[in-house]
Amino acid sequence: SEWQDRGAAKIVTTTTDENGITRTTVVKKSIKDFVMGKTLGEGSYSTVVLAKDKSTKKKYAMKILDKRYIVNEKKVKYVNIEKHTLNRLSKHVGIIHLFYTFQDEQSLYFVLDYASNGELYTLIKKYGSMDLDSVKYYSAQILDAIRYIHDNGVIHRDIKPENILVNEQMKIQITDFGTAKLLEKNENGEYPTNVRATSFVGTAEYVSPELLNEKYVGKACDIWAFGCLIYQMISGKPAFKATNDYLVFQKICKLNYAFTAGFPTIVRDLVKRIFVLKPSNRITIPEIQKHMFFESIEWSDPDAIWGTDPPELG
Ligand code: ATP
Repeated sequence: SEWQDRGAAKIVTTTTDENGITRTTVVKKSIKDFVMGKTLGEGSYSTVVLAKDKSTKKKYAMKILDKRYIVNEKKVKYVNIEKHTLNRLSKHVGIIHLFYTFQDEQSLYFVLDYASNGELYTLIKKYGSMDLDSVKYYSAQILDAIRYIHDNGVIHRDIKPENILVNEQMKIQITDFGTAKLLEKNENGEYPTNVRATSFVGTAEYVSPELLNEKYVGKACDIWAFGCLIYQMISGKPAFKATNDYLVFQKICKLNYAFTAGFPTIVRDLVKRIFVLKPSNRITIPEIQKHMFFESIEWSDPDAIWGTDPPELG
């Protein structure tokens, strides 16, 4: 059928009766296993609701997609990309985990990690701008998650504050892989550096100049967006902002941005190395990790990035 269900989560229970006969029952999770709570948000073709597993009491975010709407709007491809990428990237704390998928007559269901503190976007809005310790804490986690995404042959292509969720422990979790690019390994068993983009994706304020000019995407476009994120966390507003998308694109292609007053020198230096038009001249993840701003971060120790308490936001 149109709705592939490979790799779907199954619960296996094994019981041994008094005669010593072992039976294994495979039960697929379904909507009946959850109590639905409040609506967490609406997407352009999905609704996300809080859901509690009846037996374990664990809370999840359940993304509900209307099949008919997805077919009519020709979004089947994006739904499948989202599912396959989430399955490929499921082993990192910085990525929203997909636990189960199932469907009924009308809908598709994605059972995801519940990020109770919402979007990074809301935090930036609430605090206007973040203090340097917080910027370092959140951006180190974001960079580590992007590194993991790239190491696994995926380019996100839509990194922005709305797609960075914050969980109960104030740890970031990247979401929204519907427009991700899954790379295929070449004959040497390596992922290619660049691939041609077939159509425009992303959000105007965070789109890289190479996508606008050359129509190709590589890992460097996620790094560009990472630069936009750091800028925005410090300034409280996007680096490239205008009254319409066309003017935003012009600003990006001309590197027309300015640092706000009080923008720390050390971060200015990092942002300047990210906002480089030619992707091959742009700073790479290993180089960002060695930058002065992240001097105190021990990148080889996941606990140093993910196991520390969040700084008091201010
Ligand atoms: P669009 O599809 O238009 O790009 P979207 O990606 O925001 O929008 P959804 O993924 O359906 O669409 O998410 C809708 C809203 O639900 C989000 O804006 C977010 O605030 C909330 N949300 C999504 N996933 C989670 C989650 N795992 N935990 C908590 N809230 C979530």
